[in-house]
Formats: sequence, C-alpha cells, structure tokens
Amino acid sequence: MKTILVVGGAGFIGTNLCKKLIKENRVICVDNFYTGKKSNIETIDSDNFEVIEHDIINPLKIDEEIDEIYNLASPASPPHYQKKPIETIKTNVYGMINLLELANEKDAKILQSSTSEVYGEPHQHPQKETYWGNVNPNGIRSCYDEGKRCAESACFSFNREYGTKIKVIRIFNTYGPYMDSADGRVVTNFIIQSLKNQDITVYGDGNQTRSFCYVDDLVDGLVKMMNTKDDFIGPVNLGNPNEFTILELAQKIIKKTNTNSKIKYCPLPSDDPTQRRPDISIAKNKLKWSPKIMLDEGLDKTIEYYKSLQY
Ligand code: NAD
Ligand code: UDP
Repeated sequence: MKTILVVGGAGFIGTNLCKKLIKENRVICVDNFYTGKKSNIETIDSDNFEVIEHDIINPLKIDEEIDEIYNLASPASPPHYQKKPIETIKTNVYGMINLLELANEKDAKILQSSTSEVYGEPHQHPQKETYWGNVNPNGIRSCYDEGKRCAESACFSFNREYGTKIKVIRIFNTYGPYMDSADGRVVTNFIIQSLKNQDITVYGDGNQTRSFCYVDDLVDGLVKMMNTKDDFIGPVNLGNPNEFTILELAQKIIKKTNTNSKIKYCPLPSDDPTQRRPDISIAKNKLKWSPKIMLDEGLDKTIEYYKSLQY
C-alpha cells in the first residue's frame, strides 16, 4: 500500500481524487480550506484516510515516508483567485517550492496540476504542449496564470538541478460533483441558476468557447500520469477536446433542467480567453488516455448531484 499526499484534497478535483485513491492506498489530505470544504472529505470513511489542516505557503513537515504527492492546491475559479491575488501567487510559487522540497526529502514523485491558463489568450488552436502561450503578465488573471507558469518552471528547475521526480499536467476546464455551489465557474453557476429559476449569467456575447471534461475522466488521467516511468515528466494536456460556446452550454443546461430561467447578458471580464481546446495527442499516445464521458452525460450526472443537495 502506497502513502499518497493529496494537497488541496478537500477541493473539487481533490475530493474526487482522494475517493479514487483511498480504495488502494493510505491517503493524507492537506488543505487550508480556502475554497475546499470539510464536508467534502467527511464523505470519505476510512482508517487509511487522514486530514492535515495546513497552508502550503509555509513549509510542510511530514514524519512518515511518502510515495507520491499530488499538488492541487490553488483557488481555481476566477472570482476566488481574484479576491486573494497575493495568496494565489504565494500558494502557486512558495507552495510549489515547499512541496518540491518535501518531495526531494522523501524521494517521492510529485505531480503538479498546471492549467490551460498557461496558454493565456491562445494564438494557436487547439493548444499543444509545445505552445508557449500568450499571457498578460499584469492583468487580473495573472496572479493565477503566471503563478502556474512559475510553478511549472519550479518543477522543471528542481528536476534539472536535483533530479526531483516531477510530473506536470495541464488541466482544461473540468466540472462535476463536489465543486462548491458558490465556486463561480460556469457549469456550476448555470446549473445552480437553472435549478433556482434565476437568470443565467452569460458573460459577453457567449461566443467564447471552452472544452469541458468530466471529473472522473480527469482523475483517471492524473493517476495514469503519476504511474508513468520517472523519465516521463510532461507537460501533458488533459481535457476533453469537444469544444462548445458558452451560449451552447447555457442552452443545453436550460433544456436539461427544464427551467424557467432566462439568459441575462453580463459584461465580459477582462482577459477572458476567446477560445480553449486541448490537443490531447500526447495523453493518448503516452498515457493511453482519452475522455469517455461526453458533455451530455456529464451534465446529467452533475445536475443530479446538485439536485441531491436540494437545489
Ligand atoms: P478548488 O478550489 O475546488 O480546490 C483547490 C483546493 O486547494 C481547495 O481545497 C483549497 O482550499 C486548497 N488550497 C488553496 N490554497 C491553499 C493553500 N495555500 N494551502 C493548502 N490548500 C490550499 O479547485 P479545483 O477545481 O479542485 O482545482 C484543483 C487544482 O486543479 C488547482 O490547482 C487548479 O488550478 C487546477 N485546475 C483545475 C481546473 C478545473 O477546471 N477544475 C482547470 C485547470 C487547473
Ligand atoms: N462564464 C459565464 N457566466 C458565468 C461564469 C463564467 O459566461 O456565470 C464564462 C466566462 O466568462 C468564461 C467561461 O464562462 O468565458 C468559463 O469560465 P470559468 O470561470 O468556468 O473558467 P475559465 O474562464 O477559467 O476558463
């Protein structure tokens, strides 16, 4: 049985990952509960599951041996990271370095959850891992985008200088159960608004695109990446390459929830990327991974989850 640290384990992806890993491993969830919820991980009932409340901006000491570290710690929704931009930078940069030092000390593998945001407003479509991106270094998204870019740089620097066993994954928009209903990301917002018969807030004209991956697929990809040989370090895109406009997403959710809600057009936040779609050739070839759950099925499952919470 391996001992695995899931940092940011009480958040949306973290909870889904802990639930998968606990079936065969000892899992230690580390979280400061900024956006993660104790109620998420309280659903995990196992003697092999432990929770440590800790902010990774500060160094983390663990007494026992650790085999693997998944770093998921960072607010991921634009409203949450923009509310605390300095903490977001510190979490992504200091936090990453603290975890890389821990990985070195324990001789553990460490997987970083980077993001499609490293591509910024992309001039290449779909986005391949070789694309260096087009990021505004001082815009309202930069605390997150540049924080994640610096975290990738820290991973590769530790690998070059110390031989640290790194794995870098770039996650594209992922949705599903255990995302906080007040998270602010688009799928959750539209579902909650529909279930409450409130206006559906489309930012801009709704013609911007995203490619939505169901969380079970994503978590499978993370575990597959962790299990690759030490010399395969990434970066690797993980996401569903089917691309939709935000307006198409709104219309699908309106139909599926049979709501009376109407679309309300709101101002587009600055630096909101126009288009986003992953090229997943590397994930297909090296991880033998591709998403299995398409948007219609994933939305049905996610709507059922929020209905079960009485929305
Ligand atoms: P989330 O906000 O639900 O989870 C993040 C978790 O990290 C929360 O539990 C939060 O409390 C914790 N955290 C934040 N700062 C911390 C700190 N300083 N110390 C300890 N814990 C801290 O977001 P998520 O969607 O689950 O995202 C998880 C990771 O995946 C993030 O790093 C995010 O950048 C990355 N990612 C997610 C997506 C997506 O679509 N969901 C896309 C790209 C990248
Ligand atoms: N969006 C929207 N209404 C909302 C929330 C988001 O129209 O209530 C838009 C947002 O402007 C962006 C897209 O949906 O174009 C995805 O937003 P999200 O915050 O989910 O993720 P990200 O922008 O980081 O890809």
